[in-house]
Amino acid sequence: MTVDRRWVLFALGAGALTACSDTQIAAPRVSGLPEDLRPQPNAAYEAWVQAFRQRALRRGVSQDTLARGFQGTGFLPGVVRRDRNQPETRRTLEDYLSIAVSEKRVALGRAALRQNAALLDQIEARYGVPAPVVTAIWGLESFYGARRGDVPVVSATSTLAFDGRRGAFFEEQLMTALKILQAEEVSADRLRGSWAGAMGHTQFIPTSYAAFAVDFDGDGRRDVWADDPSDALAAAAAYLSRNGWRRGLNWGREGTSGGRVIQPQAGGPRFAVTPNFAVIKRYNNSDSYAIGVGHLADRIAGGGPLRGRFPPDTYGLTKENRIALQRGLMARGFDTGGADGVIGANTRAAIMAYQQQTGLAVTGDPSLALLAQVRAQ
Ligand code: CA
Repeated sequence: MTVDRRWVLFALGAGALTACSDTQIAAPRVSGLPEDLRPQPNAAYEAWVQAFRQRALRRGVSQDTLARGFQGTGFLPGVVRRDRNQPETRRTLEDYLSIAVSEKRVALGRAALRQNAALLDQIEARYGVPAPVVTAIWGLESFYGARRGDVPVVSATSTLAFDGRRGAFFEEQLMTALKILQAEEVSADRLRGSWAGAMGHTQFIPTSYAAFAVDFDGDGRRDVWADDPSDALAAAAAYLSRNGWRRGLNWGREGTSGGRVIQPQAGGPRFAVTPNFAVIKRYNNSDSYAIGVGHLADRIAGGGPLRGRFPPDTYGLTKENRIALQRGLMARGFDTGGADGVIGANTRAAIMAYQQQTGLAVTGDPSLALLAQVRAQ
């Protein structure tokens, strides 16, 4: 389960360490998916589906469920493309936190906590997981419900099962998705999620849904897809609770006093973590993710930024340098897609355009010399 969750979260977008750039999270919840996330003819895929149907029948999935589940679905080339374009290197913790605990995500998290205070208090009372921690997971997984994903889960998981990289894993997700449909927990048209099959506010893959989802609002359905986040947020808390969350204990804190101390980025801040830190990692087996959840939760609860400094990056730039470079480029008409201090594809494209226009070697790499030149103009 841990590995599966981790994989899916890694899959959640260029960025993913899982993910979560304000600009990078996949499918916004609007009608109309990108062209490459619409079914396209593929004879080999269709043959695979025919063979899969026989396996599904043997596992107790009915003809009727198969008909409903595969209605309107098909091979999604964009799913394969996204799966193969996973980032090869992990982001540094500093970059990860710049995205995961952006000021926008903190502000929206504080609003979400206020607006859902009664629900989150009830969830905390039942499962022992603090409201800010549940809110932080919500924020990291779907930007507080805004980015739940609109890709049909049967299309996404069947495409990945057919494609074969981790085929057995995705065939099990597909099989479970059909059983969720067969149990009438959701209608076929609402069985949607990310391009990798993660569903709802807290991005549960089908097997996690089957094992951990709860009907918290008591309407008879475990509905993680609804606009109302009650069941989904309770499911996240239930997941942590059943994985050993200790009531009354925080995740940890910045600093070195007591407990286990980790320093995920050399030269960066240290964190003293509690056993609950390891429980958050059951959601996604990454120190950066767990610190992201913990720190975002602290910020949502009213806390301030980290006090510790991070060292300059491999180009010799601090975050302040990188922000200054991005602002300088934008001021000169080169669109970096914002000034978050993270050098991503947009910033690299802007640097290349600037280098080309000013007669420099076109590398796309930031540098202190480039920053000085941009500032001097
Ligand atoms: Ca419900």
